[in-house]
Amino acid sequence: MEEKTNYREELFYKQKNGYDLVSKEEVIEAEKYSEGYKEFLNDSRTEREAVINSIAIAEQNGFVKYSGPDCIKKGAKLYFNNRGKALTLAVIGEKPMSAGCVIVAAHVDSPKIDLKQVPLYEDSELAFFKTHYYGGIKKYQWTAIPLELHGVVALKNGEVIDVVIGREKGDPHFVITDLLPHLAADQMKKTMAEGITGEGLNVLIGSTPYDDEGEDRVKLAIMSVLAGNYGITEEDFVSAELSVVPAFEVTDIGFDRSLIGGYGQDDRVCAYAGLKALVDTKNPQRTCLCILADKEETGSQGVSGMQSMAFEWVISELCKAENSEVIDCLSRSVCISADVTAAFDPNYPEVTEKRNGAKLNYGIGLSKFSGARGKSGTSDSSAEFVAYIRNVYAKNNVIWQMCELGKVDQGGGGTVAAYMANRNIETLDAGVPVLSMHAPFEVVAKLDCYMTYKGILSVFEAEPYENKYF
Ligand code: MN
Ligand code: MN
Repeated sequence: MEEKTNYREELFYKQKNGYDLVSKEEVIEAEKYSEGYKEFLNDSRTEREAVINSIAIAEQNGFVKYSGPDCIKKGAKLYFNNRGKALTLAVIGEKPMSAGCVIVAAHVDSPKIDLKQVPLYEDSELAFFKTHYYGGIKKYQWTAIPLELHGVVALKNGEVIDVVIGREKGDPHFVITDLLPHLAADQMKKTMAEGITGEGLNVLIGSTPYDDEGEDRVKLAIMSVLAGNYGITEEDFVSAELSVVPAFEVTDIGFDRSLIGGYGQDDRVCAYAGLKALVDTKNPQRTCLCILADKEETGSQGVSGMQSMAFEWVISELCKAENSEVIDCLSRSVCISADVTAAFDPNYPEVTEKRNGAKLNYGIGLSKFSGARGKSGTSDSSAEFVAYIRNVYAKNNVIWQMCELGKVDQGGGGTVAAYMANRNIETLDAGVPVLSMHAPFEVVAKLDCYMTYKGILSVFEAEPYENKYF
């Protein structure tokens, strides 16, 4: 019998730790890339700040604000700012829009705690903000940690005031208090979902009484500070978007510094990868787009969410210059829905099916489908498109892994993928595996961040995917 020493190697699908596959030079590249990402993440604590910082990076790299069909030329680098909360960036390709675009769609909103529209009150001579949390959070994780206040206050006269308190060294912070263990006998018997309630997420903001004899003296003292610093009255909160977010600095994690810890990595880690990849894309055949969407964490609805017609407006503007039809363009377009996935956590092995879970340091994670309870809500990418991506990654030495978010009956999650696929765009989910996703402090691996960037760049620059059907 013929000897087959490499038979296993040849026939088995074996995933390898990325560190066994990359060169030393590439580890250094990943390290360099991560420094840029950490800086971006540290300064981007809301969707609005992520948009501002993304525009700054884009402009440094020759992108200009879209100003009408006249600026659409081969090689042009354009951006479309959607109300300061979402952003679409484009590099115009050699081929016309009717040949389709290559799209990467990530989101720049993250779970946070928003102020209500009538937030300020005093109780027992302490001042607080009432809140309504945004996105899926485990509420107990947000108590007893330092918080910052970010957002805008829009005044009746049209002026918009930016608020960032807690980011600068020496700034004050805010906090949601929790009960001391000594008196938590009843609380500790509750489930983790019930131990802290939504209406219990009240942010402590001050304690000094105003120097007079009336009611609500602490509240008045707080309002007098806000009036002095920002020129606002209590009524102005009704037209404000203010959020409290964790105050933790973005930092390396581990003796080997191989990991990054920070707030809002879902999905700013993929947003940064998409942005950097587009900035680095040279002479693409087809027009390449990077979308940084808002409202993914609440279902992608609203004017700045991925379900918004704002997307069709951008495509229609790009098509106008050459009389292409939007629906033709969409039918030939492809999309990487760049969003994070759950990394296998050895502390909680029971929720993951180990043959199909994403692992840290195994590269960009591709999810053919998402959803829960029988793939409900998924767009399920086609086998042909997954094969195309595998081929692109093989040619470009991108380290990647196939993954699924958790065990079949454990739960699941969605991304913007379904909203792109519903538009007749061939779409695949791909992104960075995360530990402690949606917690105030999430963890990712540097190698995976870099491979996500490289994976997106290789798709932007690849030979176009040919849809055999139309
Ligand atoms: Mn996400
Ligand atoms: Mn999320």
